[in-house]
Amino acid sequence: MNVRQMIEEKGSAVVTCAPDISLKEAAVSLAQHRIGAVVIVENERIQGILSERDIVSAVASHGIGALDRPAASFMTRRVITCRLDHNTDELMEMMTNERFRHVPVEEDGRLVGIVSIGDVVKRRIAEVQREAESIREYVMHG
Ligand code: AMP
Repeated sequence: MNVRQMIEEKGSAVVTCAPDISLKEAAVSLAQHRIGAVVIVENERIQGILSERDIVSAVASHGIGALDRPAASFMTRRVITCRLDHNTDELMEMMTNERFRHVPVEEDGRLVGIVSIGDVVKRRIAEVQREAESIREYVMHG
């Protein structure tokens, strides 16, 4: 399965925030949408990504005062994105090597979706189950 099929299945909605919102507002957005990361966007361009891990690190290093500071101070600026033609194996490799759980999807410089490790694992399990089922069919009926 590739990213295009995943986005068709799960939808292309991406929760984004402006860089100047506070870390507290970003945390509220993550909680409200039940997600683990927001893409920070300005003038339709990706400026960074802020995940729950960044919020935990900010509070651990700076105390709760960090929550009043801008999300941009704690986001990761070098965002790794994927394309619609990447497949689930490539995404799993990317997430494992880079040690993150979210990958925004870009096409022609536009943000067209986001995939999380949960999305990838769910599709990969379904693929493995389908493969096992066809092997079982083959063994039973030839
Ligand atoms: P996560 O595992 O997604 O919660 O993120 C762990 C760390 O990697 C955090 O510092 C995030 O800001 C950063 N991060 C998450 N996704 C990406 C990405 N696609 N590109 C670059 N950094 C990321």
